[in-house]
Amino acid sequence: MVLWVSPETLGRNLFLLISALIAAGVGFILIVVFWTSIKVALWHRGKKRFEQRERERTHAPDGHRYPPAAAGLCDRCGRGFESVYYLPSGSRLCPNCYGEQRAGDHPVAAER
Ligand SMILES: [Zn+2]
Repeated sequence: MVLWVSPETLGRNLFLLISALIAAGVGFILIVVFWTSIKVALWHRGKKRFEQRERERTHAPDGHRYPPAAAGLCDRCGRGFESVYYLPSGSRLCPNCYGEQRAGDHPVAAER
């Protein structure tokens, strides 16, 4: 059967077949690179957003770091909150009372 095909046609067909395979391989690699770079860009964006949310949660707008927080009762106003700051002195303050106390401690920071 191979003997019926002229060497010229066989060579041309082999060349086309190999070229098509190489083109498909290169295209596949390009698609994988493109997809991976999209995933990496999305991951970086998500990481940046997470870090920003985490910073907003743990830091005041003036850069001061909030003390550790957990659910509990405020020592000053006596109400229960989902998030109460546990101060190093041992007292627990809700975000409102903590803000008032900080405003009293640092009047300049409160004006910002
Ligand atoms: Zn309170």
